[in-house]
Amino acid sequence: MKSIYVSLCPNCGGEITDEELVGRGVCGRCVLQDGRLKPGKYTKALELEEEYRAFADFFSRVVGSPPWSLQRTWAKRALLGRSFSIVSPTGTGKTTFFIAMAIYQASKGKKSYIIVPTSLLAQHIHERTLSMAAKHGEKAAKIAAYYSGMKKSEAEEMLQKIRDGEFGILITTDRFLNTRFELLRGKKFFYIFVDDVDSFLKSPRNIDKILLLMGFEEKEIERHLKLVSARSGESEAEEYASKEIARPDSVLLVAGATMKGRRTKRIRLFRRLLNFEPGGSIEFVRNISNMYLHQSKKMWEQVAELVKTHGGGCLIFVPQTAGVESAKELAKFLNSQRISAYAYEKMDTKMLKRFELGEYDVLVGVASTRSPLARGIDLPERIRYVIFAGVPRRELNVSWREHRPSMLLSLIRNLYSILREKNESELVQVMGMLKKCVPTDREVLESVREGLESSKQPEGFAGYVYSAVTRAHQLLKTCIGEEELRRVAENLDMKIRVDENGISIILPDIDGYVQASGRSSRMFAGGITRGISILIVDDEKAFRGIMRALETIYEETFQEYSLEHAREEFKQCDRDRQFLREVRTGSASIESLDILRSSLIIVESPTKARTLAYFFGKPARRVVDGLTVYESVGEGYVACLTACQGHLVDITTSHGFHGVWIHDGEFVPMYVDIRRCSKCGEQFTDSEVCPNCGSDKY
Ligand SMILES: [Zn+2]
Ligand SMILES: [Zn+2]
Repeated sequence: MKSIYVSLCPNCGGEITDEELVGRGVCGRCVLQDGRLKPGKYTKALELEEEYRAFADFFSRVVGSPPWSLQRTWAKRALLGRSFSIVSPTGTGKTTFFIAMAIYQASKGKKSYIIVPTSLLAQHIHERTLSMAAKHGEKAAKIAAYYSGMKKSEAEEMLQKIRDGEFGILITTDRFLNTRFELLRGKKFFYIFVDDVDSFLKSPRNIDKILLLMGFEEKEIERHLKLVSARSGESEAEEYASKEIARPDSVLLVAGATMKGRRTKRIRLFRRLLNFEPGGSIEFVRNISNMYLHQSKKMWEQVAELVKTHGGGCLIFVPQTAGVESAKELAKFLNSQRISAYAYEKMDTKMLKRFELGEYDVLVGVASTRSPLARGIDLPERIRYVIFAGVPRRELNVSWREHRPSMLLSLIRNLYSILREKNESELVQVMGMLKKCVPTDREVLESVREGLESSKQPEGFAGYVYSAVTRAHQLLKTCIGEEELRRVAENLDMKIRVDENGISIILPDIDGYVQASGRSSRMFAGGITRGISILIVDDEKAFRGIMRALETIYEETFQEYSLEHAREEFKQCDRDRQFLREVRTGSASIESLDILRSSLIIVESPTKARTLAYFFGKPARRVVDGLTVYESVGEGYVACLTACQGHLVDITTSHGFHGVWIHDGEFVPMYVDIRRCSKCGEQFTDSEVCPNCGSDKY
């Protein structure tokens, strides 16, 4: 025994020694003679544990293996009735978890709703839910699903089921929620799972709809929406819900990363009512072999040769600057070379299925973070490699009449190092002004545009935006001359053109590269599949930019392509896919694959918690009992980070010799928790009331 904590038995609030804390976690008086726990604060935790065990048994039965570390954490949170953002890579079992939870809840008569971005996924999840529910046997849950591609009679039958509420589990796309909400209005769901929050948030009103389905009152939602719009200036911390908000007992789980910079009214509403913020990014875990080769002949012939050498399961990306037309042309060319290729321009679930089944060897698209081929496609078994037919690059066109501050800011940021030498003070001021204008309301943008046309400064905030925009124009016009153009050409990884219409720059698109190449590598229950990316260099400068950014941001390097090296890489790549297939079909054991561990890190200062969390990636954030908790993913773990906000204990003043107990010739310090008066802020120990103001709230 090294120390005694006078008031810290987590069950009864009495004295507990360090050994007892580390050992069974409660003090000696809390363990009854028959070994059971005396009723106290831990009773709830025990109840949760029991409920969790019931769920875990159920899970093992329908899934075939017990929940992994992360699934255990999610299950406990959900059973506690907390809504949260699931931060975890694809394939680590969040869908499995949710389906199991939905079936479990259905067996208790509670409805669940699974919302996915595409019909293909809806169908896929529908099939999995049916097969998992069948394993549960005795009283299989009623499952309703609706997606495009269903037979007409089946679709009608489903709609009727949905209308009548004749289901325990509902599976649809987010489009369905948006367009057919009237079928769902008035129904209450206890568990809602949004599989791709970014797609879901494309229609911000989906948030209102989800809140209604969770059981929030329409009037309440409107009231809080007004509150958050009125207080747009308040800090994020204040936006989180206060305890007074009555929350229904429904649980909302969202998965997937959000695009950066969403700070809309409805996201604030979300934070306020649900205590968490959707998002968190997991793009940091990649396992990709980046190879490049120089353009030696006609690029398309080179592409065809690569595909003939390495086989199907390939995505090909053309630079954004070449555009969709070029993707189509390339697909046509490949087909003429007897490679079955298809230009994938928009989300097309049937086409994906055909690609997955091997009817097509190749899908061709545009390399950009918005390209439907680069995002939302999750076929880790099928996609073996990615070819870039040209370095991913994007064009930024800003005319001399450009009225959008965001565009001007983005251009100026890219030319920063050049502009700075010419007129630094003006540059800093203009950037400062533009930053204040972003994001800009549509009405404000409209009056700025009108103002620019008539050369008249609008009133109010639009006037401020107007002057920021005109000063930006001026800065760009006066600061870019022959000399600057030459320096851009020499020093930056971009191409620039300035003429009477405006400025246009062509930039290496590192985000596009990472997003698109990332399709070939996926974290799954057994690790991260090895993916291969082959880039054909048609623009040395842009390639230099991509290479540099990949090294500094992602710590990955490029290797020159050689057939021998590529063959070795493909061996690894195909081994991983074979294993993935075995894991999926259940022929490989998944018991030892607890690859992502859930962990908790407590630091003292909230700022430090935040800094550390961003160090790991872009964290998800939620608030538990007023305490902000960040959650980030690293290789091998998911870490929750939070701060204790100061010291927790101090030496007591009321026991022992000034707080030290002398026992058997040893000195044992006795600690007591530090309390802070919530009325006057006074810190004190050893007292039930504030010695300063007498308040008993701390
Ligand atoms: Zn106790
Ligand atoms: Zn006080």
